[in-house]
Amino acid sequence: MNFKPSREFAIHQLNTFIEKNLMEYSRLRNFDFGPNKRSNVSCLSPYVSHGVINEVEIINKSLKKFSFIKTEKFIQEVLWRVYWKGWMELRSNVWTDFLQDLKVIKSNFKNNQNYSDAIEGKTNIDCFNFWVEEIKKHNYLHNHARMWFASIWIFTLELPWQLGAEFFMKHLLDGDSASNTLGWRWVAGIQTKGKHYSAKEWNIKKFTNNKFDKIKLNENSLPQTDERLYRIISKEFKDAKLVENKNLLVFDNNLSFENSDFKNNNFKKIYLISNENETRQIILSENVLNFKKFLLDDQEKRLNKKSIKCERINIADVKNIEENVYAFYPSVGENLDYININNLENIEFLYRKIDKYSWKFCNKGFFNFKNFIPKIISEAV
Ligand SMILES: Cc1cc2nc3c(=O)[nH]c(=O)nc-3n(C[C@H](O)[C@H](O)[C@H](O)COP(=O)(O)OP(=O)(O)OC[C@H]3O[C@@H](n4cnc5c(N)ncnc54)[C@H](O)[C@@H]3O)c2cc1C
Repeated sequence: MNFKPSREFAIHQLNTFIEKNLMEYSRLRNFDFGPNKRSNVSCLSPYVSHGVINEVEIINKSLKKFSFIKTEKFIQEVLWRVYWKGWMELRSNVWTDFLQDLKVIKSNFKNNQNYSDAIEGKTNIDCFNFWVEEIKKHNYLHNHARMWFASIWIFTLELPWQLGAEFFMKHLLDGDSASNTLGWRWVAGIQTKGKHYSAKEWNIKKFTNNKFDKIKLNENSLPQTDERLYRIISKEFKDAKLVENKNLLVFDNNLSFENSDFKNNNFKKIYLISNENETRQIILSENVLNFKKFLLDDQEKRLNKKSIKCERINIADVKNIEENVYAFYPSVGENLDYININNLENIEFLYRKIDKYSWKFCNKGFFNFKNFIPKIISEAV
C-alpha cells in the first residue's frame, strides 16, 4: 500500500479498482487481508477526502463500466461520505462539542497509563497493538479494522471515544471531521442512539483470516449514552453570485479545481491554502502534514500547466486579503473553524453541486438517505 500524493496516481488507482476489483467488492469488502493486500477495497479515501478525485467522477466511471445494480454497494459507500458531511452540516454543534470535550478529557488523561499504553500499542490485545503500528506506519486502516479498533478502545480498554477520534485524525491520511467523528459516535452507540458496535473475537478472526490470537474482549458491553440533543440547524447552501475576476480560496478538501463544478469560471487568482499545526486544534502527524503538502504541490503543478494563476498561502495569511473573495466551501472542520473564529467576513462560499443537492436528505439516518441515491445520481452526478 503506497498512497502516492498525486491525482495521476488516484486516477490510476480508481481505474485499476474498477477494472479488476469492483465486481467482487460487495463480497470481499469486509475482509482485512493486511496492509500489503488491499485490492478488495478501493483505497481511495485519502484522495476523496482531499477532493483530489471526487464522488461524481468515481460514480460516473463505475457506472460507465457496470450497471447500477452491480455497483450499488460501492456507490452507497462512496455516498456515505456525502451523507456524513451533510449530517454534520445540519448539526455542526456535534463537531464543536467534540472539540470542547476533547480539551477537557485530554487534560484529565494526560498521565493515564491505559491511554498511553493504547496509543503506544502496548495493550494485551495483539490485534489492537498491530493496528496501532499499522496506522502510524501506513496512515490508513481498513474500514472493518477501524470499527474493531474503535470498539475495543471504547468498550474493552474503556477509554473515551473522543481520544480515539483524535488519535485517528492525527494519523489517518483520510482524516475527515465528519466521517471520523460520526464514525466514532456510531461505534459508541450515541450516533444511532442505543445501537453500538461491539467487536467480537469470532468476527475479527473470520475477517482477518485467523491472523491474530489472544483476542480477549468485552463482548457484552452496553451502548454509551449522551443526553445532548442536536436539533437540525436551518442552513442554506446557496452559491454566492458569481462575478468574473475575483480571487478564489481553495482549501485542502477540494484539491482538483480543474475538475470542479466551477472549472469554467474565470477567477483572477486561486489561492491554495495550507493549514499547519499552529492553526489546528487537533495536531496532525508529520506523515499526514507531508501528504497534504504534496497534494497541494500537485494541484499547483496542474494549475500551472493550464496557465491558471495561483499562489500558495498559509491559512493565517487569509486575514491579510482585504478584498472580497470566493472560497470553495471547506465544510464543518478545522478550515471553517479558522474562518469563523477569525470573523473573516469577506469570504463568500461556493458549494459543490452534489452537496447542495444531497445535504437536504441528511436530516434522518443513512437508511433513509439511501432511498434518494437514484435521485442524487440523476440530478447531481
Ligand atoms: C471509527 C471510524 C472512523 C473513520 N474515519 C474516517 C475518516 O476520518 N475519513 C474517512 O474518509 N473515512 C473514515 N471512516 C470510514 C471508512 O472507514 C473509510 O472511508 C474507508 O475505510 C476508506 O477506505 P477505502 O477508500 O478503501 O474504502 P472503500 O470501501 O473502497 O469505499 C469507497 C469510498 O467510499 C467512502 N466510504 C466508504 N465507507 C465509508 C464510511 N463508513 N464513511 C464515509 N465514507 C465512506 C470513502 O470515500 C471511500 O474511499 C471511518 C470509519 C470508522 C468506523
